[in-house]
Amino acid sequence: MEIVIYVVLASFTLSACSERINYTGYAVKRITPKTESQLAALKQLENIGALFWKEPSARGRPADVLLPPNLQGEMVNILKAMGSTVENLIENIQVLIDNEESAAKRTGQFGWTAYSSFEEINAFLLEQHEKHPNYTRLFSIGKSFEGRDLLVFKISRGSKPKKSIWLDANIHAREWITSAVATFTINELLNGERTGWTRDFDWYILSILNPDGFVYTKTNNRLWRKTRSTGLRCIGADANRNFGFHWMESGSSNNPCSETYGGKSAFSELETQALRDYIPSISKHLVGYISLHSYSQLILLPYGHSNKHIPQYDTYMDLGHRIAQATATRYQTMYTTGNIVDLLYAASGGSMDWVKGTHNINLTLTFELRDTGRYGFLLPPTEIIPTAEEFLDGLEVIVQSLRDGIITPDFKEH
Ligand SMILES: [Zn+2]
Repeated sequence: MEIVIYVVLASFTLSACSERINYTGYAVKRITPKTESQLAALKQLENIGALFWKEPSARGRPADVLLPPNLQGEMVNILKAMGSTVENLIENIQVLIDNEESAAKRTGQFGWTAYSSFEEINAFLLEQHEKHPNYTRLFSIGKSFEGRDLLVFKISRGSKPKKSIWLDANIHAREWITSAVATFTINELLNGERTGWTRDFDWYILSILNPDGFVYTKTNNRLWRKTRSTGLRCIGADANRNFGFHWMESGSSNNPCSETYGGKSAFSELETQALRDYIPSISKHLVGYISLHSYSQLILLPYGHSNKHIPQYDTYMDLGHRIAQATATRYQTMYTTGNIVDLLYAASGGSMDWVKGTHNINLTLTFELRDTGRYGFLLPPTEIIPTAEEFLDGLEVIVQSLRDGIITPDFKEH
């Protein structure tokens, strides 16, 4: 009898383990290749079980790599022997994942001292809409692959449409800080110190653009990045490589198992289709498009397919520098500004590039929020509020610039 119980318990434990990936002993290392052959060797790590937190891109540019225990010894030694620099960022990421979980359990409700669940975030949005029914709307612009609503929270005071600002987050599932900052922003616009921003602008905030992936990060794999659409070999596409503007030109993979798989066609994913179909209905009034990502502390300008600078580049760079000054005032957090290719790597098919390139929206920015690699995607919950506060300090510069007309529309694209 005892044996039977033991077997039943053992099989239960095993199935529980297989549902949720345990990352005990997985480490994150920052590896900088110095030659083309070192770069090529580094890129191969993805095929043998490493996961890129920051893609290898060029000689001299660091990549952040998550390595399972079996790749931390010999493989790292080979890279070092070839001449690459290897720096330890995180020893054991499961400790950070456990910390996130215990904070969520301690809190047990929606807030910004722990990362909230999909259900808690939706309940917060509904509650805020019910609290401010006269000038807010909560509506779905489409369904995800698994049938979840893509919920936009709209704030619009007065009867006439105003200049509009769009904010979206969590297109990459594991970047939890982004939806936390989005909901913090909604709260500040409705109940906090930034209510004045709703007098001059209508706001559209899509807190979770990739809900299936987001839920999957909570239930199965904390580090999932892509959508959850089914494919022949592997699941999901990188939604931020799936937009139909210079799709699959550079920095995206045609391997369905890659983290940066661009999808089987442009807009193959329901989540990107939803934006493709909705943005045109508001583009007439849209003056600002902001997409939230993490991590690296960057303020990115278009484009990702080319290092050619956009028209009025200097004006946008000047704005980026002023935003970075503002985000640094409260906690001395340093953000760097520039275009995607200059600061990161070539990456085409992103949402910002599509919005800019297709709809010629005045100001389009991508924020890579905290941090610069100390915790990476596993930013401790204690950093949610400071990250959101300094983002709003930066957003204030954007709001003022758009209000004062400092950034003027450019109609000479393409
Ligand atoms: Zn991202």
